[in-house]
Amino acid sequence: MKDVIHLLPDHVANQIAAGEVVQRPASVIKELLENSIDAKATHIQVYIKEAGKVLIKIVDDGVGMSVTDARLSFERHATSKIKLAEDLFSLQTKGFRGEALASIAAISHVELKTRREEDEVGTCIKIEGSEVISQEACVTATGTSISVKNLFYNIPARRNFLKSDTVELRHIIDEFQRVALAHPHISFSLVHNSSELFQLPDTNYRQRITNILGGKTNEKLVPVNEDTEIVKVSGFVGKPEYAKRTRGEQFFFVNDRFIKSPYLNHAVAAAFEGLLKDNSYPSYFLFLKVDPKSIDINIHPTKTEIKFDDEHALYAILRSAIKHSLGQFNVAPVLDFERDPTLDTPYEYEKKQAFTPQVEVDRNFNPFKNEPRDSSFRNDFKRESSTSGWESLYTGLKTENSGSDVDFRQIEFESEEVTGNLFGAHKTEEAQNATFQLNKKFIVTTIKNGMLVIDQHRAHTRILYEDLLKSITVSPAVSQQLLFPTVLQFSQQEIELLKGIKDSLEQTGFIFSEIKSDSVEIIGIPTLIMESEVEILLEQLLSDFENEIPENNFSQTDLLAKSLAKSMAVKSGNLLNTTEQQHIVNGLFACKEPSVTPFNKPVFITLPVEELEKKFM
Ligand code: ADP
Ligand code: MG
Repeated sequence: MKDVIHLLPDHVANQIAAGEVVQRPASVIKELLENSIDAKATHIQVYIKEAGKVLIKIVDDGVGMSVTDARLSFERHATSKIKLAEDLFSLQTKGFRGEALASIAAISHVELKTRREEDEVGTCIKIEGSEVISQEACVTATGTSISVKNLFYNIPARRNFLKSDTVELRHIIDEFQRVALAHPHISFSLVHNSSELFQLPDTNYRQRITNILGGKTNEKLVPVNEDTEIVKVSGFVGKPEYAKRTRGEQFFFVNDRFIKSPYLNHAVAAAFEGLLKDNSYPSYFLFLKVDPKSIDINIHPTKTEIKFDDEHALYAILRSAIKHSLGQFNVAPVLDFERDPTLDTPYEYEKKQAFTPQVEVDRNFNPFKNEPRDSSFRNDFKRESSTSGWESLYTGLKTENSGSDVDFRQIEFESEEVTGNLFGAHKTEEAQNATFQLNKKFIVTTIKNGMLVIDQHRAHTRILYEDLLKSITVSPAVSQQLLFPTVLQFSQQEIELLKGIKDSLEQTGFIFSEIKSDSVEIIGIPTLIMESEVEILLEQLLSDFENEIPENNFSQTDLLAKSLAKSMAVKSGNLLNTTEQQHIVNGLFACKEPSVTPFNKPVFITLPVEELEKKFM
């Protein structure tokens, strides 16, 4: 038998390596930006076309390369950044593996132009799929400019795997922002298909954060500074009252490198304990400087996790530094350990009134009450008890009892016989259509064989979801014009998201008069929401879109309808009058799928008479 092992040709090895280093256009941007920073650039411009799928071009004014270096830079394991294994422990640069350019050149068409200050002419190299097409002297500015065209042109599987432009652009913006936040003294710009998304001048950390995240960010920031032997912490946290519903504004940088650390994130959350509303996340922009020796530097090029020597100490330092800042800037009581936590009102209870659910229950269902009920109830009832209302309540009742098909013809509401006995014949209808609210959370009503308990929030979510789907896809909803336009501030990233769903949103009743790079002006909103709710509603919507990237138009519409329905639906804890209760019951059973919410949670349960009877045995 012949020997079978042989070394892979370079271009194959490079392609394989590329699979690890370059996952999507955003990875190219990250690698190239890091190279420019390592080359001590002070101005870095990024141009992309079609979310980087067609072109990524990065121009820097860094040190540039000599003719030989320019050619060598595309070889695998070719780097100017380390020489010895020991150098790994004192790493001051972002790159060190010498893999990025070789990988990128293996899977795209690359053109490099570079010149050092001391050289008269520069070098221009063209490479396609690891193969050098040309190398010649050229006239070019000091620094380096790299164009990467047709990414993955020779790996169709990869290319097809790329997401929509909107999604890929978001990844690019993410990487761009991370690098830009860590280097406020370098000016950056990002231009996509000839529209300028970012233009960030050389500035300080605080201003850079504000420039990236939008106008009002500055007033939300509380500085954090702590200098210890283990770590030097600087940066900002957002004031608790501005906590977001998304984790989008949480950034850790270790030695100017963006990292993710659930553990350190927990330390920040611990510092904010008791200051935040439920489901909100503090913003933070924290820069940690540690001895390069104390971190595991052999990090994977695409990974953002990092290992620290002394994580526990880091945790404690971070937590106390942030606590201290929050206290010092008067956003938290400093002596909070003296407070008795049992005396605190949890946030969610603050706005609620005390209530006694029993009273409501009894009032509507007192079978011994002979007087006619208060007139408003009766009027409500008469208006609502049209046959169509009844029928919808009746026909919609499909998939209860975990899918087992129920014969609807057998479901009837309290018969005249029974109610007649209780209320007297003239009040029959009332009892049939009676609903009452339990615990400000459930709507209870009767069906022939028992009792129906409906979760008010879930039911309303279902109704609104189907309404919204209809208005987005079939017939646009009407909107209410605002007397004065409302202007809302958003980050550039959020604005990009908003642009992507603007058309659908307008179908639901929003009217946007102007979308700027960091704000939107709204002159019309859906009739079902109040002006005061718009901001929180859109914030939640964008946060949902940040967390769950829709892959296609269908899932985009679906996500939009889900998110809006959830925000707009009446909450648990809201008192509903009889008309409102019945509106929900009728609306629910007019739905196509009344038994579950769009999030697949049960909307109502039935309590059959037999079960009630069993309980009395
Ligand atoms: P690494 O960054 O890990 O060293 P790369 O493949 O990214 O590996 O780059 C290889 C080498 O090319 C770098 O070490 C550097 O010397 C040179 N280089 C890359 N980009 C630039 C640039 N923008 N300006 C100057 N030199 C560069
Ligand atoms: Mg590099």
